[in-house]
Amino acid sequence: MYKAFLIKYAEIAIKGKNRYIFEDALVAQIKYQLKNVEGKFRIVKEMGRIFIYTEGEFDYDETIEALKRVFGIFSICPAVVLEDEGFEKLSQEVTEYVKKLYGEKALTFKVNTRRNKKTYPMQSMEISSALGGAILDACPNMKVDVHNPDVFVNVEIRNKIYLYSENIPGPGGMPLGTNGSAMLLLSGGIDSPVAGYMIAKRGVTLDAVYFHAPPYTSERAKQKVVDLAKLVAKYSGPIRLHVVNFTDIQLYIYDKCPHEELTIIMRRYMMKIAEEFAKKDGCLGLITGESIGQVASQTIHSLAATNDVCTMPVFRPVIGFDKQEIVDVALKINTYETSILPYEDCCTIFVAKHPVTKPNLQIIKRSEEKLQEKIDEMMKEAVETAETIICE
Ligand code: ATP
Ligand code: MG
Repeated sequence: MYKAFLIKYAEIAIKGKNRYIFEDALVAQIKYQLKNVEGKFRIVKEMGRIFIYTEGEFDYDETIEALKRVFGIFSICPAVVLEDEGFEKLSQEVTEYVKKLYGEKALTFKVNTRRNKKTYPMQSMEISSALGGAILDACPNMKVDVHNPDVFVNVEIRNKIYLYSENIPGPGGMPLGTNGSAMLLLSGGIDSPVAGYMIAKRGVTLDAVYFHAPPYTSERAKQKVVDLAKLVAKYSGPIRLHVVNFTDIQLYIYDKCPHEELTIIMRRYMMKIAEEFAKKDGCLGLITGESIGQVASQTIHSLAATNDVCTMPVFRPVIGFDKQEIVDVALKINTYETSILPYEDCCTIFVAKHPVTKPNLQIIKRSEEKLQEKIDEMMKEAVETAETIICE
């Protein structure tokens, strides 16, 4: 029954004279997401709105699924498109449509008419009340409520007539490509894919870095991270994933530094290396899945010690989330099942029995002096030998 979709967007509407940049980015993302959906689509910016017109057969469910992944969409309104064949016909079509959609349900409704075609022989108010009356006759369980209706029946009269009532929620956020890019530290855990998703939702495109420690971490552990990157990429668009061989650096730290400081020192080097990739890829920030107090390396003291080496802003979108709140997002974006696969993680392999939870920055820095001889060379090599995988 549907031949078009009206796309409603929230925050873009307030962007003043840059609004077209956001709208164009939204159109580009809609095209990108619909690319693999069965059907022919024409996307048109029209009077502060975006319409998607379908041509011929198309897969409705797939279309909705794809649009639910486009950041910047507040809601998706499937629309019936009619020719203007007089008011009698319109009234029939509207009541048929409402009957099909809501059947016997006891809902309150309001008809909203927008008459863009000024030659139409009736006024908007007149159209709304006539259509309202026709709906009441056809659906005895429905009632009018002009103040707080359960559903709106929207009628827009232009060259053609558009009828819509359903509002399918989109993901919200800002269109990708309107806010630069950032480098995600992506592990195989639950938190970092969620962190990447949340930043991408604000219009930021992603690149990623994964610290791999063969033979301590397996090929399967790496594949899991690639799979997670692909799942996030369904929303964020293609992700360039840099796989860094971190084994030698970890062994070197293990060899030279106190074991209870190992995790903090290791995380400081992860941040430094991630920044190198970020600079190369033109990213303006780093993203991690850290959350205050979750583990020893995420106490506020540990976070401060890790952050001390960073020169770029570090975005930690789940910083104030409880684990369950992070899990809820992971379930929603479909990364959870992959994240919980039980493969080893480079952070847990060398982990000390009693890691420091209140690291002292001066002491950490003194320990790191013991790495002076080789660490710069090793970092350079880690960057140069990284494997880059495009995940989409
Ligand atoms: P996650 O569920 O994202 O793995 P976590 O709770 O296991 O997080 P940590 O292992 O302490 O926490 O890692 C904190 C953050 O550091 C991660 O969210 C991720 O951004 C980054 N990180 C940890 N290990 C790696 C890794 N091997 N490669 C890349 N980034 C990592
Ligand atoms: Mg982890």
